[in-house]
Amino acid sequence: RTRSAELAERAREITPGGVHSNVRLAGPSVFFERGEGAWLYDEDGNDYIDYLLGQGPIFLGHAPRQVTDAVAREMRRGSVFAGQHTLENRAGELFLESVDWAEKVRFGVTGTETDQAALRLARAATGRTRFVRFAGTYHGWLDNVLITTVDGVPRPASAGQLSRHLDDSYVLPYNDTAALETLLDQDDDIAAVIVEPVLCNSGAILPVEGYLHRLRELCDQHGVVLIFDEVITGFRLALGGAAEYFGVTPDLAVYGKAMAGGWPVSALAGSATLMDLFADGVTHAGTFNSSVPACAAVVSTLTLLREDPPYGRVHAHGTKLMDSIRELAVQHDLPLRVQGLPVAFHVSFGSPGSILDHAGLASFDLDRYAAFSHTLADHGIWVAPRGIWYVSAAHGDVELSATLERLDAALSVEAA
Ligand code: PMP
Repeated sequence: RTRSAELAERAREITPGGVHSNVRLAGPSVFFERGEGAWLYDEDGNDYIDYLLGQGPIFLGHAPRQVTDAVAREMRRGSVFAGQHTLENRAGELFLESVDWAEKVRFGVTGTETDQAALRLARAATGRTRFVRFAGTYHGWLDNVLITTVDGVPRPASAGQLSRHLDDSYVLPYNDTAALETLLDQDDDIAAVIVEPVLCNSGAILPVEGYLHRLRELCDQHGVVLIFDEVITGFRLALGGAAEYFGVTPDLAVYGKAMAGGWPVSALAGSATLMDLFADGVTHAGTFNSSVPACAAVVSTLTLLREDPPYGRVHAHGTKLMDSIRELAVQHDLPLRVQGLPVAFHVSFGSPGSILDHAGLASFDLDRYAAFSHTLADHGIWVAPRGIWYVSAAHGDVELSATLERLDAALSVEAA
């Protein structure tokens, strides 16, 4: 009996579902003792190469020294919630120099609340009420954006808990603009279109050629606010996120995860015209917004990302990893599908062609992969049970070869 198993049992007595940020997505019950770079170490002395990275924030690897030092320095200084401070200005400046299409920014704590702030701002700007989102996207865990997620239909387990008054949004297929065109012609009460530029939460599905440009055009034609949810893609895909990578500028964008080296910080950014509505009375609040250590984490993270941009390296590493996983799957004769962005890709079991149907929904064997994620953990590879693999700037050649060796062994078990 492992120490992790004991701790997991204790956890269930204390907190429903055990200790995990998301009860529904809980993976193997491993208790970690510490992390360093791309590695995690559990309470039983096992090591893991980490491709979950705290669901994405650990883009610089675990315990990046500059960020850790900067946060600790501000905690010690005792000015955690001091009111206005120079680090907030500096964080904002670095942010706007990185996300260069944006003119103004406000910091928050989580992606969930900041997505809501974006929707609120869009309503205030347009005087309209409804919004459009896409099947398979995830914009946080609140009722109005939760009711459909992975499979694009209301999930029975959640439907019963959510408000029945959710008629303020439309859910359309991703990667298909025909339905949106029709809708925008019919309903003139649409304030915003919110989209994950890459459908990272449902199989890391890439936008088809021209899709994001077309969303931009349609929103312009109808006076609708285009919101990019860059919580995963921001500061990960490129310094300027998906907007920079795909060359499409939204009106507003939401950031989180990778922007603060693991510290909880989110941001809403956009044009001055839209963002200044906050100065005119649109509410945006939060006890923990723009705390001094949070701004220190942003400043140190963005300084690192700007001084030595890791994007080329991480992209190359992820590409090699994706190719090698595909090769290993062939060798083991397993129907393992690998797709998406090298910095955040998706691995799943499915038959050829089943991953991406016309509507852009992912259809794959979630249960088989979730079980396989336990096999991977047994072999020292830590991944999300839903299939996404995140790569960090701390993953190098040592990690790559160790991963392939471990994966080979895990696939042998799977194929047996
Ligand atoms: N948007 C996207 C695209 C996300 O992936 C997530 C979290 N996985 C969120 C919003 C919500 O962010 P948070 O968990 O920080 O509330």
